[in-house]
Amino acid sequence: MKVSDRVALVTGGSRGIGKAIVEALAHGGAKVAFVYQSNQEAADKLVAELTAAGREVMAIKADASKKPEADAAVEAVIAKWERLDILVNNAGIIRDKLILAMTIEEWQQVIDTNLTSVFNFCQAVIRPMMGNRYGRIVNMSSVAADFSNPGQANYAASKAGIEGFSRCLATEYAKRGITVNCVAPGFIETDMTIAVVNAAGDKIKSSIPVKRLGRPEDIANAVLFLASEESSYITGQVLKVDGGLTLGGMG
Ligand code: NAP
Repeated sequence: MKVSDRVALVTGGSRGIGKAIVEALAHGGAKVAFVYQSNQEAADKLVAELTAAGREVMAIKADASKKPEADAAVEAVIAKWERLDILVNNAGIIRDKLILAMTIEEWQQVIDTNLTSVFNFCQAVIRPMMGNRYGRIVNMSSVAADFSNPGQANYAASKAGIEGFSRCLATEYAKRGITVNCVAPGFIETDMTIAVVNAAGDKIKSSIPVKRLGRPEDIANAVLFLASEESSYITGQVLKVDGGLTLGGMG
């Protein structure tokens, strides 16, 4: 999957799935910037590891839900590497509550972090990508966009929103050489899912046809393909990477 000599920006790249995406792109030869919000230790560690391995990487502290911070992050990448070819909108949070218990702040925080951040970064990269007549945008959805998980109305709305947004963006800029796709992970072992895994990991595994939880690398491999030159005829799609979780079988 060719990403070498490309410049990439990954939001939420300091931990979990985003970290695996940063590693995959960097080891594939791309120059990679990643955005994190607060965990500087994790960001510094990742930069140190990849730099020691001879990769070009940079960390940017920004709140992806804030438009000026997203614009500044994109400007910093272009100032350093003069172009931007690949955008992976991966930053995301959960604030699970049943509707009657959910506060407007919990609703808004999830919508802003998961969905508005995608608008923020996509809008900021479209012009530079159009200038190069090349772009790969990969937005992180979730199987929760289709599932009906009690307690996840805010999260499901944000992820379903990402999928609809991505289809529109894909049609708007297809003729400019920019593709826009989503990856929808199933159950992946990260900080986000650690509490549920500790409480019910074996039960979850038994409900997944491949009989294991997903690893961040499973998602990174799918993102790498959609971010590569080889995926040029795929746009507006959602690729589920879930070990068969959503197939609805009985085994
Ligand atoms: P995670 O381990 O909790 O990591 C979240 C990352 O997002 C961190 O790098 C965090 O930065 C960053 N972040 C959070 N809010 C941010 C903000 N406002 N601005 C900038 N960065 C922000 O999460 P994950 O499990 O890897 O999930 C990554 C993505 O995959 C999310 O979009 C999630 O919805 C999606 N997903 C995950 C699963 C799963 O099973 N894990 C399943 C389906 C979809 P800091 O380190 O600074 O906090």
